[in-house]
Amino acid sequence: MTLPHRDNPYSFDQFLTRRNTFDYYRDDPFLRELVQKYSGDQWETLHQRLLEFSPRVSYRWRDLADNVARPEVLPRIQHYDGHNHRIDRIARPRETEILEREIFSQGLFSARTTPWEHFVKRFLLHQNGEFGVMCPLACTEGLIVLLKYYPDHDTPELDQILLHCKEGIDGDFGIGAQFMSEIQGGSDIPSNLLEARPDGKGYRLYGSKFFCSAMQADYAVVTARVTGSDKVGTFVAPAWLPGDKERERRNGYVINRIKWKMGTSELPTAEVEYQGAAAYAVGPVDRGVASAVGIVLTLSRLAVGSSSGGAMLRAVREALLYGRFRDVFGQKIQQFPLTARQLEEMAEAAQRTTAGAFKVYDMFLRQGRKLQVGLKSDEPVEVQKQRFNLRELILMQKISTAHECVDIIRKAMSIFGGHGVMEDFSSLPRLYRDAAVHELWEGPRNVLLTQIYRDLQRAARWYDPAEFAATVLNGAPGHQVEERVAQLNELLKKPVLSVPNRASLMAAGEWESFCGRFFRVYQEQALREVGGEKPTINESLTNE
Ligand SMILES: Cc1cc2nc3c(=O)[nH]c(=O)nc-3n(C[C@H](O)[C@H](O)[C@H](O)COP(=O)(O)OP(=O)(O)OC[C@H]3O[C@@H](n4cnc5c(N)ncnc54)[C@H](O)[C@@H]3O)c2cc1C
Repeated sequence: MTLPHRDNPYSFDQFLTRRNTFDYYRDDPFLRELVQKYSGDQWETLHQRLLEFSPRVSYRWRDLADNVARPEVLPRIQHYDGHNHRIDRIARPRETEILEREIFSQGLFSARTTPWEHFVKRFLLHQNGEFGVMCPLACTEGLIVLLKYYPDHDTPELDQILLHCKEGIDGDFGIGAQFMSEIQGGSDIPSNLLEARPDGKGYRLYGSKFFCSAMQADYAVVTARVTGSDKVGTFVAPAWLPGDKERERRNGYVINRIKWKMGTSELPTAEVEYQGAAAYAVGPVDRGVASAVGIVLTLSRLAVGSSSGGAMLRAVREALLYGRFRDVFGQKIQQFPLTARQLEEMAEAAQRTTAGAFKVYDMFLRQGRKLQVGLKSDEPVEVQKQRFNLRELILMQKISTAHECVDIIRKAMSIFGGHGVMEDFSSLPRLYRDAAVHELWEGPRNVLLTQIYRDLQRAARWYDPAEFAATVLNGAPGHQVEERVAQLNELLKKPVLSVPNRASLMAAGEWESFCGRFFRVYQEQALREVGGEKPTINESLTNE
């Protein structure tokens, strides 16, 4: 019998203690297992480094990240100083500035950080969301790889930019951004209108970009058309020319405004007007779309896969902990079959997504981290096929994981009941809003579904789609592979990309479901390869 109690003694502290002391790496047997499997003989050193790194992510940086998306600290812009100088100063939350300094100074792109160390550290960081730092990290990686891809230039400034971003100069690490989207269509980079006017050895940029994230960055990869040309090139524009950062004198551009966004709100995304900014061409000025898509966007898309895995692991773990803690109608939430089943399904999705992200990254490393600009190259056809496999997996991973992540975080929030939508009860509402952004940036779903279809059609002359499907799904149960191969062959004969009519609408729907199911078979196989019988997150927490 329950009697009245004036001083209700209810407390969440037991849940909070467990949640807040959880170390993202040390306390997650599944993640440790994955790291051990993939890092091979580097494991011992890596394990030690991660044990040192993880507490910072799991406690200090987590707490800082939780404070950045509050409405009262959203990024703001001050256009003029008190003496009528145009400065376009971006004011960001103090927590983001601290996070940025501390995380960038880890030298994640430096030669002293091994590729697996880089990947797993970023994976751990993704559990905190905080795109004020994670977006510029992805952009900086794109800038570095682009500069390394085109080393033969006569521009010492580009070497300095590479050094600044990769190894740091006097302890200061350069930050990159990527400005491609214009008002008339972000997906359609070939329709860019921004002008790059030749000026001596370099160029001057004129025109506008409509989605410019990481506005605090030191350098931006900018796509533009050279004066008189109908082709788009890729350029690097410094935010400030040497010596001007301290004086707050920007390099020939103004920031019109900072956008008001539903997610990644701590990240300043702006609209920019170039008025003669100095810029340097990177790679052939008529192959900018291929460079931007094949290198810069591909890396950002790869990051979406691990970001989705990281966010899901965190959301599901916290839902599991809450399910173990919270009593309703006299029993723990997790003891209701309805909840237990949902938790199990969520845990499987989080692990499957994470295992898939590790497997795709492993393929990237096995290919020497070399990305390809365009579909074809001079390499032997077997190597081209491997590069094609990676390209398509990255596209499929981007759309599948970004889509599922929103769903899984929403389900995790529902385990918390009304507390699930309270911004100061957990980080889940923030992660949920950020996940919605993942579906849109770095290529929205339909653009990538189209790209995969076109790639398979174009490559069919030298790479049979059936061979592609069987190779990528190698190891999965035979009947699943055969089914996907047959479906793919059928779908490539259907009017998926033609004009809208009954038949093409049906085919388009089938294509969308096919891509989701195809990548899921890949992820399930990745999960099996971790050892299959490993405890799920659910069991490992229950068995403590
Ligand atoms: C928070 C945020 C930050 C961003 N930051 C940056 C940034 O820093 N730099 C940058 O360059 N961009 C940035 N973007 C822009 C982003 O990359 C674009 O929004 C995206 O490329 C889509 O462009 P769009 O918004 O103009 O949509 P559109 O290109 O107009 O697309 C609208 C719809 O049409 C569909 N569509 C387009 N083409 C096809 C096709 N061929 N077949 C079928 N459907 C199609 C799309 O799927 C979408 O549903 C950011 C976006 C967001 C949300």
